[in-house]
Amino acid sequence: MKLPFVLAKRFVAGESFEAAAPKVKALNEKGIKVTLDLLGENVEDRGMADEMVANYIGLLENISTVDRMESSISIKLTMLGLDIDIDYCRTNLFKLLDVAREQDQFVRIDMEGSDYTQHTIDLYKDAFREYGKHVGIVIQAYLHRTKNDLTELAGLGADVRLCKGAYNEPEDIALQDMSKIREAFKDYMKILLDKTPCPRIATHDDELIDWTRKYTTDQDIGPSRFEFQMLYGLRQETMEQLTREGYQTRIYVPFGTMWLPYFKRRLTERKENIWFVLSTLFKK
Ligand SMILES: Cc1cc2nc3c(=O)[nH]c(=O)nc-3n(C[C@H](O)[C@H](O)[C@H](O)COP(=O)(O)OP(=O)(O)OC[C@H]3O[C@@H](n4cnc5c(N)ncnc54)[C@H](O)[C@@H]3O)c2cc1C
Repeated sequence: MKLPFVLAKRFVAGESFEAAAPKVKALNEKGIKVTLDLLGENVEDRGMADEMVANYIGLLENISTVDRMESSISIKLTMLGLDIDIDYCRTNLFKLLDVAREQDQFVRIDMEGSDYTQHTIDLYKDAFREYGKHVGIVIQAYLHRTKNDLTELAGLGADVRLCKGAYNEPEDIALQDMSKIREAFKDYMKILLDKTPCPRIATHDDELIDWTRKYTTDQDIGPSRFEFQMLYGLRQETMEQLTREGYQTRIYVPFGTMWLPYFKRRLTERKENIWFVLSTLFKK
């Protein structure tokens, strides 16, 4: 049974590019950049992966045709065939990045569950060697392995989005305690600010936002050297305030018909999000 889209509309901008585009423009008009995410995960056959490559390329083309739309795209490697074969997935990624480079656009590779971390980092490094500033990666602060990964990627000057991590991971793989995750997040931010051109700080957590503001002020690091990122539907007033204060800001805007797994992650992450969904239902 397909659930009605009205349930997800608090967190998902629409089921098509045409439905999401006015929301992107409205954010851009407030000085907030966007990364568009065409929703979906874990494609299992080549026919579907080929279709996803074409869809992602179509998305880059759509963005470039809308006047003054400020949006990059975020993608998942399991949608480009990572579960099928790594070389096939690399070929698909490179097809997409050829178009991104031609059009001077940017593609960020989202980080998925820990079964995919090593392959995602390996493919990112291959892509970075070939496409440089047109490709970025995401690193999750909760993973025990992250210190090594981050040090290596920062040494390359990679464009990294740092987040806490959204998947349920066991304790031998990931930190479970929020205060430890926050401490790790801060340590990794310091490394990224020191070694990479523009770290992306993806969190809604006031403690981490306030810490970043204070740390960068104390270290004399200007607001153009990093970017705050949040998810569509969460804390938009905070993003608008940060933008007014001169910080770089970007909202991750998911859209598409395959919104259910993303929607479930948002609901399980924070009980307040369930209330947001209910209140959307009761609004006209
Ligand atoms: C732009 C972006 C991209 C992401 N990409 C990935 C990815 O590729 N892979 C991945 O695994 N995860 C990704 N995530 C998800 C991320 O890993 C976390 O699961 C998610 O952001 C929740 O952690 P948090 O730090 O935002 O806040 P939480 O840990 O959910 O909350 C911490 C505190 O922040 C405050 N807070 C949080 N939300 C709100 C709110 N709506 N209103 C008011 N206060 C609030 C509250 O004080 C709360 O106690 C991404 C997140 C963002 C923002």
